[in-house]
Amino acid sequence: MVAEKSASYRNTTQRAIILAEVESYDGHLTAGEIFERVRRQYPTIAYGTVYRTLHLLAEHGLIQELTFADQASRFDKRVERHDHVHCTDCGIIVDVDVPVALMARHVAEEQSEFTITSHHTVFNGLCRTCQGARNTGLRAASISVRAG
Ligand SMILES: [Zn+2]
Ligand SMILES: [Zn+2]
Repeated sequence: MVAEKSASYRNTTQRAIILAEVESYDGHLTAGEIFERVRRQYPTIAYGTVYRTLHLLAEHGLIQELTFADQASRFDKRVERHDHVHCTDCGIIVDVDVPVALMARHVAEEQSEFTITSHHTVFNGLCRTCQGARNTGLRAASISVRAG
């Protein structure tokens, strides 16, 4: 009895700590990054616990899980509808609100005759840092060719 009680208390506490960590961060972290942050104040917590709890919180609509084809899921404290831009080099994700996405939803409804209940647009590209890195990389390559 007592053991059950303390286990459920511990689960509630862990859930609250993990949720607070997601809510305190202005961005989109992976489960691994959230685990590293939670571990600073809760060193005994297991990665599996953080991972399961994040999915549980997302199922309950307290946070949003964003999935990308070949990359780890990221977790978003903003649960209202919004769109994302995603850097294909470093994986960073930034919030955007694109009115045209709403028009796309009507077109999708018309073409499919579905009743669309949700939609989410991801724009893939290169962030400013990675654009810079590519330019520098190209310049460095052309210099070394000239030097050789
Ligand atoms: Zn990038
Ligand atoms: Zn977002």
